[in-house]
Amino acid sequence: MSAEPEPIAYRGPLPAVTALNRPHWDGLREHRLLAPRCDGCGHVWLPPGPWCPSCWSRAYRWVELSGRGTVTAWVRFHRQYFRSGVFEVPYAVAEVTLEEGPRLYAQLEDTEPAAGLAVEISYQDVSGDLTLARFRPVPGAIGR
Ligand SMILES: [Zn+2]
Repeated sequence: MSAEPEPIAYRGPLPAVTALNRPHWDGLREHRLLAPRCDGCGHVWLPPGPWCPSCWSRAYRWVELSGRGTVTAWVRFHRQYFRSGVFEVPYAVAEVTLEEGPRLYAQLEDTEPAAGLAVEISYQDVSGDLTLARFRPVPGAIGR
């Protein structure tokens, strides 16, 4: 145990990690995007849940996704909604439809948001225990 507490690097909302979604969060910490894939029909889904939302099978395994997708919707926040002031406004949050099908909501970095923009995952280590997904444009995607 260290004598001094570590500085608080991240003051934003924390995920509710449970037995059901722990592999997803563990994967992010290892800079891998993991999601459940149904053994019955092959459907891949996020957020993690106890059964396949396509065929209701409870048989699934965790698979690594490419981390690539397309912005299908986005919003830009101009106000600070957290008392901690954790996010520097304005900031953009995108709905990204991943190549494998699931949709993931995350902050966009290094870009003006646009529907149809090709993006790839970026891992933001906010503490020793927590890594968040972000998305940034695929190199060469802007201006096409
Ligand atoms: Zn299924």
